[in-house]
Amino acid sequence: MALGVYISVPFCRTKCSYCNFASDVFSKTVFETYVARVRADVERSRQIVAQMGGKFEHEVDSIYLGGGTPTVLDSVQLARIFDAVREQFAVRAEAEVTVECAPGTLTPGTVEGLLRCGVNRVSLGVQSFVDVEAAAVGRLHRHQTVLDDIARLRAAGTTNINIDLLAGLPHQTAESWEASLVEAAATGVPHVSVYMLEVDEDSRLGRELIAGGTRYHAHFVPDDESTADFYLAACEKLESVGIAQYEISNFARDRFQSRHNLKYWKRQPYLGFGVDAHSMLMSAASGADAVRFSTADSLEKYVSGAPLLQTVVSRHAALEESFFLGLRLTAGVDLRDMSRGFGEKAVELFQGTISEFVDGGLIDRCGDSVCLTSRGRLLSNEVFQSFISSADVSA
Ligand code: SF4
Repeated sequence: MALGVYISVPFCRTKCSYCNFASDVFSKTVFETYVARVRADVERSRQIVAQMGGKFEHEVDSIYLGGGTPTVLDSVQLARIFDAVREQFAVRAEAEVTVECAPGTLTPGTVEGLLRCGVNRVSLGVQSFVDVEAAAVGRLHRHQTVLDDIARLRAAGTTNINIDLLAGLPHQTAESWEASLVEAAATGVPHVSVYMLEVDEDSRLGRELIAGGTRYHAHFVPDDESTADFYLAACEKLESVGIAQYEISNFARDRFQSRHNLKYWKRQPYLGFGVDAHSMLMSAASGADAVRFSTADSLEKYVSGAPLLQTVVSRHAALEESFFLGLRLTAGVDLRDMSRGFGEKAVELFQGTISEFVDGGLIDRCGDSVCLTSRGRLLSNEVFQSFISSADVSA
């Protein structure tokens, strides 16, 4: 099966207050070192994969540059990363090639440079079309910036565009959220991702929400119930304009589902490079199903060559993964396919868990498939946890 290649670029112009990714603002002087390190890893990917006990095909049908804000690198640096990938792998002519961009970083020169690299899909981190909301969390763009970026991309021939929206931002109300949804739909983009604000210790806003305070506008964050309502309103609104939900957080018009991201949920092979990049490949050893490995989650550790973290995925763990990743998809999990892949007896073991969630209204049965209900999507972490045992083997 063709491979997906992910490359992380952990640099941003500013650090958004809600962001819990391994990204930050760094001096441009480290960009060259980073690009060189990523290129070196891409060049020795066969060796890395052999050491991790995985196997993969030479053909690549998706490349995804995420982060961070990859477009803070200049066109020459971006081209050097893409060149390394194309030198080491057979990238299919029709491959999906995505770059994440912060609105306002797409100058005409950058767009031209991306096209030269073969980029045919752009994901814009909009989060909100309401300027006061975007500004409150440190985004540097206004809503007109987004419209200008989309127009520039389309004029250059790129129509496969995603807009990220975030429910639960400070100052967000039902009306302002509706305004963002209406604006996103009016742009006519074929893909929208909707996330709910994560409250954890890994972001400044998250920490303020836990500890209290006003510096990052935590006192203007809507309550959990409102955020859940915003999410449900997004599902309804996007569906009504033909942008159908295909995953918990992802919505697309026909044939515009993200090929790269589908690999994560369908357990198809992908190889990641750069800071905090994750890989999943079929195992080269007969006793295991797959191998997962990830790079260091800080720039300093990554550049200094910190070892990869490896997890061997047993057959049983693979079955669990197939359940909790597959349930993220609107189409759900086909139990016949699972029985064919893992054996009827192994799948039988999960019938009790499934029945429990069907009775609780979190899972629906549709013929041979099971999928999350809309309430199940809101409580998905609770559902997924029940499909995971402690039998996984980590190293
Ligand atoms: S631009 Fe994206 S990656 Fe960078 S700080 Fe903001 S949310 Fe995080």
